[in-house]
Amino acid sequence: MRNKEMLLVPGPTPVVDEIYDALASETRGHTDPRFVEVYKHALQQTRTMLQTDGEVYVVAGSGTLAMEMAIVNTVGEGERLLVISHGYFGDRFTPLAKAFGIEVDILQSEWGKRVDLELVKEKLATGYKAVTVTHADTSTGVASDLDALIPLIKESGALVIVDGVVATAAMDENMSKEYGHPDYKIDVVLTGSQKAIGVPPGLAIVAFSKAALKASESLTVRAYYCDINNWRPVMENPSNYFATPPVNLIYAYDEAMKIVLNEGMVNREARHIAYGKAIRAALATYGMAALASEEVAAPTLSCILYPAGVEDAAFRAALAERGMIVAGALAHLAGKAFRIGHMGNTTPEMLERAVELIGEALQQQHVTVDVQRAVEVLKAQLNVMV
Ligand SMILES: *Cc1c(COP(=O)(O)O)cnc(C)c1O
Repeated sequence: MRNKEMLLVPGPTPVVDEIYDALASETRGHTDPRFVEVYKHALQQTRTMLQTDGEVYVVAGSGTLAMEMAIVNTVGEGERLLVISHGYFGDRFTPLAKAFGIEVDILQSEWGKRVDLELVKEKLATGYKAVTVTHADTSTGVASDLDALIPLIKESGALVIVDGVVATAAMDENMSKEYGHPDYKIDVVLTGSQKAIGVPPGLAIVAFSKAALKASESLTVRAYYCDINNWRPVMENPSNYFATPPVNLIYAYDEAMKIVLNEGMVNREARHIAYGKAIRAALATYGMAALASEEVAAPTLSCILYPAGVEDAAFRAALAERGMIVAGALAHLAGKAFRIGHMGNTTPEMLERAVELIGEALQQQHVTVDVQRAVEVLKAQLNVMV
């Protein structure tokens, strides 16, 4: 590993050497046939990961651009969108959609909890073009229950748009999976490169099902860079030009996709579930509880509440001095919790080291902890994985 620090924020995530090597490939022209082959392969691998019958788009941009691309190509001005939000990133769909003249309703959960399904049913009865579901919300560490939500949303006739920015490549987003009925499937998955995929920031990735593409046919898309009609010829044949793709990031992404498909999505999901359970169980022995209960907690990141008396800035600085980086909490939780990512190419060894270092940082703030026991709890949970 070339990394000198353990980057355990909820994205970007640790980049492995194979991906750095690919990133440092000689830059070629974007229509050079050698690069075109790599781009094609990267797109094909994305299709395989998501099992979509529709189209995939991989372009320069962050996760937020992928959110925008998903919305503007499926929901038109004056049409209705329902946002199911479990935190800060769910909420982001509201101003985004409003900027395009879309009528937005939002259902927000209390932070750390899920939106009540009865409320979802009531809202859906009023009729929406599409519904956004944030697969895991990076502010709260709450995962959405796709098994419960997708049948309700599809039954109402709306499209299901899944924000997978902190989930894709770690949590199941198989777009050919039927949720209780042959027509009840995910319509759009959007994501970014820097979270569970493990590539540095810079790529927006969006997949549309056939049903989503059909709904977009009659739409006037209020965008230019984000209009998939401009990108379609490039995705069909990357020797076509619309806007210069980030050549080196695509090399890195192609490598990352090889790693993902080699491991396989079933194994990856099991590994991430084990990581989430293990890190939360280990930190619980320090008296640190996750904001989200285990039934709703995300496999990819956790929002961990500080025990009384622990000072946020000093705690995170103590970790940073030891080469481990975690993120602060957002909004009203700032100072009261921290967020730790455990996804992508993060290893069990890194998680073990993280538990040790968090123990040391707590000791520095005069909290009595048993580091050895915490590590044992972590390992016992991780052993379930193998
Ligand atoms: C990180 C994140 C985003 C935003 O992605 P950027 O790359 O920062 O634009 C959106 N949704 C979720 C769930 C995220 O975790």
